[in-house]
Amino acid sequence: MGTQQFVVIGLGRFGMSLGMELIELGYEVMGVDRSEEVVEEVGGRFTYAAVADATDEEMLRSLGIRNFDCGIVAIGENMQTSILAAILLKELGVKKVVAKAITVLHGRALEKIGVDQVIFPERDMGIRVAHQLVTPNLLDYIKLSDDYSIVEMRVPTCLNSRTVADLNSRSRFGCTIVALRTEAGVTIAPTALDRMHEGDVMVIAGPNDRIEQFEREVV
Ligand code: ADP
Repeated sequence: MGTQQFVVIGLGRFGMSLGMELIELGYEVMGVDRSEEVVEEVGGRFTYAAVADATDEEMLRSLGIRNFDCGIVAIGENMQTSILAAILLKELGVKKVVAKAITVLHGRALEKIGVDQVIFPERDMGIRVAHQLVTPNLLDYIKLSDDYSIVEMRVPTCLNSRTVADLNSRSRFGCTIVALRTEAGVTIAPTALDRMHEGDVMVIAGPNDRIEQFEREVV
C-alpha cells in the first residue's frame, strides 16, 4: 500500500478545496464533517466520507483514524473544536497532523499540542496578494523563513534578451536566479550566459529586503 491516505476534518471552503486537490492528484481522501447536510452534498466527491463530530474520540476511533498518514483539521471558526480535534488526531496516532489556524494565538495553541504543520490560509493569501498588487510582474511568492523568500517573476521588457550576467543580481541585490522558465522548458540553475526574454519566468531566491529592492529597481 504505497500511496498516502488523507483525512480532511471539516468540509467548508478550505477543507473542500484541499480535499478536492488531493483527489485530483490521485490520493485517497476521507472527508469528515459533523453536518449530515454537508456530507450528503459533497461526500460523494471523496474516496470515503463520514458524518462525525471530530471531538468524539470513540467516533474517530471507529472510523479507523489511526490508519491515516495525514489528517487535516480544517474546522473554520470554532477554535476550541479545532484544538480538540487536533489533539485527538495526534493521540489516535495519525502520523502527520496539519491544522488551519484563525488567529496567532490559535496557531500557538496548535503548535503547543504538537500539530506538525499550522497553516494560516487567510493571512498567507493576504500577504501573497499584497506582493502581487505592488509588483505587477510577480507571479508567486514563497516565504522560506522570516528572512528569506523565493519569488517567481515575469521577465520585464527591460531585461529582454539580456543574460543572467547582465542582470548581475547576485552582486547587485544578493539574490540568486535559481531557475528560468521559457516556453521551451525549465533551466535549473541557469549560467551567466543564459539569456532571458520578455515574458519568460525567473525564479529568484534571496533575503526578503533584497528581493524587495530587486522588485523595485528591476521589475
Ligand atoms: P471555511 O472557512 O473553510 O469555509 P467553515 O467554518 O465554513 O470553514 O466550515 C467548517 C466545516 O467544519 C463546516 O462544514 C462544519 O460543519 C465543520 N465542523 C465544525 N465543527 C466540526 C466538528 N466538531 N466535527 C466535524 N466537523 C465540524
